[in-house]
Amino acid sequence: MILPDDFVFTQSNLQDYLDCPYRFYLRHIRHTRWPALVVDDAVAFEERGQIGARFHRLLQQYLLEVPETRLTDLAAADPSPDVLNWWQDFLINVPPWLSGIRWVEATLHAQLAGFHLAAKYDLVLAQPPDGLVIFDWKTSKKRPRKEWLLNRVQTRIYRFILCKSGSALLKNATVEPEQITMQYWYAAFPTAPISLPYDARAHEKDQAFFTRLVNEIGSRKADSFFRTEETRHCRFCVYRSHCDRGTQAGDLAAFEDEELENETDLQDLDFEAIEEIEF
Ligand code: SF4
Repeated sequence: MILPDDFVFTQSNLQDYLDCPYRFYLRHIRHTRWPALVVDDAVAFEERGQIGARFHRLLQQYLLEVPETRLTDLAAADPSPDVLNWWQDFLINVPPWLSGIRWVEATLHAQLAGFHLAAKYDLVLAQPPDGLVIFDWKTSKKRPRKEWLLNRVQTRIYRFILCKSGSALLKNATVEPEQITMQYWYAAFPTAPISLPYDARAHEKDQAFFTRLVNEIGSRKADSFFRTEETRHCRFCVYRSHCDRGTQAGDLAAFEDEELENETDLQDLDFEAIEEIEF
């Protein structure tokens, strides 16, 4: 096994593996930095990511009960008008859904087949009588199809880990899959959240899926992390030239059309900077 003992599987690195095992190897095992762009318009791409990050911080502060008027001033002062527009739409639409006990930016951990999994949540909300709602804020321009979201590693691992480890939030009460719903809120579509309830069947499938996946990754040797045959994944991959899969970055519009998200940095865990709930 070439994974370090302290390796943590997250939605971000697992999605990389599913897209391309070799990308997983380069990025998460070799930590290879490659000087290439994800998309052609690097400035717009970077700017979009930063605007999204600033909006996420605004919502985080709101959930931690920083006064709304102060946050409205911050949104109004933001160089991007998107932030104020999204903020106003958030205030009109979302607060009525947020009653209950909140865990903001919580990280949950789980053990599976001897491996360590973790998920960082924008918000987990406990609602009476026993519901647990995972909220995830999105600032991408497109609102993806529900089926696409259901198959995303993020949806699967967030619900799975909450089911396995959410007892820590609830003072050791067992969490059943049916208690859990994942709720995506797209700032550009403020009245149309996407709600994905969990159930025992989906949990069983996730248990089998993630067990197989982490065992497969854990048993690979360095030379068996193959390059994907689906070259569409190469268009927006920084290792294109390293892999001889082209030198031209894919264009930003196509990136969005493929329902990819410019939120990688937000999804990556920063274990130093966030409060953790340990298991
Ligand atoms: S360029 Fe393609 S083959 Fe190479 S790491 Fe990226 S996705 Fe994999």
